[in-house]
Amino acid sequence: MESAEFDLILVGGGLASSLIAWRLAIDRPELKVAVVERDGRLGGKHTWSFFDGDISTEDRAWLAPATPHRWEDGYEVYFPGLSRTLETPYNSMTSERLHEAVDAFLGEHVQDGPFDAERERALIARGWKAN
Ligand SMILES: Cc1cc2nc3c(=O)[nH]c(=O)nc-3n(C[C@H](O)[C@H](O)[C@H](O)COP(=O)(O)OP(=O)(O)OC[C@H]3O[C@@H](n4cnc5c(N)ncnc54)[C@H](O)[C@@H]3O)c2cc1C
Repeated sequence: MESAEFDLILVGGGLASSLIAWRLAIDRPELKVAVVERDGRLGGKHTWSFFDGDISTEDRAWLAPATPHRWEDGYEVYFPGLSRTLETPYNSMTSERLHEAVDAFLGEHVQDGPFDAERERALIARGWKAN
């Protein structure tokens, strides 16, 4: 990777930073964004689920590449002695797919390793040179 200066460095590549980086790549492609993730993989190992009404139709379309599971006709919930049908469509996003989607935008700008303030400050001061 060549030396580069970043407009924004997001520390911790969890759900929040991943979505910020992804959205900026779409809306502000001129910005150079880095994500520093200690585990080397965005999003950890999670499944995030949401109803259609939780986010806008537009945002659901944006997140579709990271959302491999969708229950269009709603789903059934079972407890001991109780069951219920929820008719609102439901979606599940996985960290594997989130990583794939965001990594495709960030590419080599995803930095592995724990955040080290002194190291990061030095990198920013002289322009980032990864690895
Ligand atoms: C089992 C489970 C199920 C959940 N289900 C849902 C759900 O269905 N829907 C929903 O909306 N929410 C759900 N949540 C909540 C959701 O996962 C969190 O709200 C969300 O992940 C928070 O995102 P975050 O980016 O703030 O933090 P995190 O996802 O915790 O990300 C923080 C990241 O920072 C990294 N990091 C930490 N310290 C450093 C360091 N020093 N240097 C570099 N990197 C560092 C970590 O490795 C991690 O990747 C669930 C949570 C859990 C645990």
